[in-house]
Order: sequence, then C-alpha cells, then structure tokens
Amino acid sequence: MDQQKPSRKRIAVIPGDGIGQEVIPQALKVVQASGADVEMSEFDWSADRYLRDGTTVPPDGFAMLARDFDAIMAGAFGDPRVKTNIHAKEILLGMRFKMDLYANVRPVRLLDESLCPLKGVEPKDVDFIVIRENTEGVYTDAGGVFKQGTPDEIAIQEDINTRKGVERIIRYAFDYCEQNTKLDGSPRSRVLMCDKSNAMTHAGSLWQRVFKEVSGEFPQIETQHMYVDALCIQMVRDPRPFDVIVTNNMFGDIITDLAAGLQGGLGMAASGNIHPGQTSMFEPVHGSAPPIAGKNVANPFGAILTAAMMLAHLGLTKEVEKIEAAVLEAVRQKKGTQDIGGTLGTREAGEWVATFVSRR
Ligand code: ATP
Repeated sequence: MDQQKPSRKRIAVIPGDGIGQEVIPQALKVVQASGADVEMSEFDWSADRYLRDGTTVPPDGFAMLARDFDAIMAGAFGDPRVKTNIHAKEILLGMRFKMDLYANVRPVRLLDESLCPLKGVEPKDVDFIVIRENTEGVYTDAGGVFKQGTPDEIAIQEDINTRKGVERIIRYAFDYCEQNTKLDGSPRSRVLMCDKSNAMTHAGSLWQRVFKEVSGEFPQIETQHMYVDALCIQMVRDPRPFDVIVTNNMFGDIITDLAAGLQGGLGMAASGNIHPGQTSMFEPVHGSAPPIAGKNVANPFGAILTAAMMLAHLGLTKEVEKIEAAVLEAVRQKKGTQDIGGTLGTREAGEWVATFVSRR
C-alpha cells in the first residue's frame, strides 16, 4: 500500500457550474504539471447536483472540508436553471460564512502592458491587493420586506458591521502589508481604508475608529483613507499609488471587478478566502458566466493563478514560481484565450501552460 507522505497537501476541489467546470480542470492540470505534492478529491456540489437530488451541501459538508482538507479550490456557482440561486448561496456563501473565511484577498497585478486598457501603464504600475471583509455587510441577508407587492411595499437590507469583524479584517490588512512585498521585491508600505463614511455614518464611524486604533500598532505603515467613489476614479486615472486596500464586503466586491479591468478582465483575476490557521478556500474572481459556458472560450488563467495562490498559502513556493512564470510567458506569447488577445481555447491555453510548467 502507498505510504502517504506527511507533507502531502489534501485539496478539496469543487468546480461548480458554468465555466467553473471548464477552468478548474485546467488549473488542476497545471498544478499536477508543477510537481506539487498534493492529493485532490473532487466534489460535485453544483446546480446539476441540486437539480438531480435537491442537495446543495451534504450534511456535515463544511465540517468535513475543515477537518479533512488543507485547502479548497472552488470554481464558480450560478446557473440560469436555478432561478433562486439557492445552491450558489448555500455553497459559496456557506463556505465563506460558515467556515468563517473572513479575509477575501484579491491581488491586482498587470502581467503585461497589452492587457491594460489604460494608456502608458506598465506592469510595475498595477500591483496592489484588495482585502475585502468576507463574512458581514449586506451579504448576511438581514432585513425583510413588508407589504410586498403593494404600492406601500418597504424593503430593508441591513448592513451588518461588528466590532470583531471590522477589527480582524483591518488587522489582517496591516499584517499583510507588513509580511508581503511587491512583485519587484520592494516592501509594501501603505494601507488604505475605503468606505463611504460620509453617507453611511454609523458603520463608517466604527470602521474609522477601529482603523485608527489598529494602525497605532503598526507605526511603520503609512495610512490613507478614500471614499469609495473617489477611489474608483483614482483607479482608472492612475492606479500607481495603491498598495494594500482594505474595505467592506460590498465595496470589495465592486472595486475588484473594476480592478480586474486593469489586469485584462475577469478572466485574469485570482482570489483567496482566508481564515489564518484554518482550511481556506481559493476561487477565481469571475462567476459562472452562463453566456460563454460550454464553448471552450473561457480564460483559464484566473483559475490557474488562483491555484498558484493556494499553493503559496500552503507553502509550495517553488511550484508557484513555475506556474506564475508560465502564465506570464503565455500572456506575452499570446498563448491564451480571445479575451486577452490570444487564439486558443480554454483547454488548449491550459495545456500550453501545463506543458511550459512541466519543462521547467
Ligand atoms: P458573479 O455574480 O457570480 O460573480 P457575474 O454575473 O458578475 O458573476 P461573471 O459570471 O463573472 O459575471 O461573468 C460576466 C462576464 O464576464 C461573462 O459573461 C464573460 O463575458 C466575462 N467573463 C467572466 N469570466 C470570464 C473568463 N474566465 N473568461 C472570459 N470571459 C469571462
């Protein structure tokens, strides 16, 4: 019988729906080609499974993931056949909320000048990180509707901000800034908090006070504040000053789609859903993209870079270097999908990167 090495990392893979089912196999192929010592187990939690037998997450599913795996690689969730989107909510938000994966870490990096819609912007100009609070805000679904369907209808959507939740995400951002460098090796030095405290005064006041307090523990790190609207225009005018951005759940969701535009689109963006010291989950920023699903046109590079992020989290740095170098080369040589100026299909682009990785 095979003796399992203690260093081998156990990965739970949940491809999900739509293009998740196309890009995740490419990411796995590249991980295998890198020689990473990992063992993968695939789960079919998805719209197909839900429509087949009504299961979104099997009983004890999240406890099983936390107990039996070192990390989770997820694809995307959402299918036009499931109008309520209940399965996506229970699987994706379930993992984030029930496994308490409070830090959604989204690197924004431009690999090649050709991918950025801004004029005269080079890769060194776009290298920042968005740290999005991942377990609170308006995504808790707190609220309700009164007198639904009548002219007097009232809809209330609550924005939940707890002292504990705000403090831990802000501290995570400062820790991240302290412990990580930019791509060129220079230290990170600034944390910017993004909010809308001029309009959302109650929540804003909590974030402002906690930001000030936590920043006091990191005197060597520069601090900055921007309202989310001002930040959006800054991002498309000149993204160079950004370093580490910390923000709430909804603003993080929105500004990282905008930021993905700087990197070459949603197909290039990676993310991790992290709780330090616990099983964390990694997923590309894009969704299931029903209009392009099943056509072999989805860009697999966001998923491949997400897999690299997962390996980095697991300490497999040698493999990460190989994978990131291969994606960079593929982008430069236009060995990617059409959305980034290439001519290859999803499978062929994944194959090109896997072959490049295996030769290094
Ligand atoms: P969600 O709300 O689940 O994040 P969404 O509705 O915001 O999803 P996506 O599913 O991410 O949207 O996709 C929106 C569009 O972006 C797609 O229809 C597609 O045109 C493009 N897109 C997203 N991901 C990719 C990809 N990997 N490759 C190419 N195009 C993509």
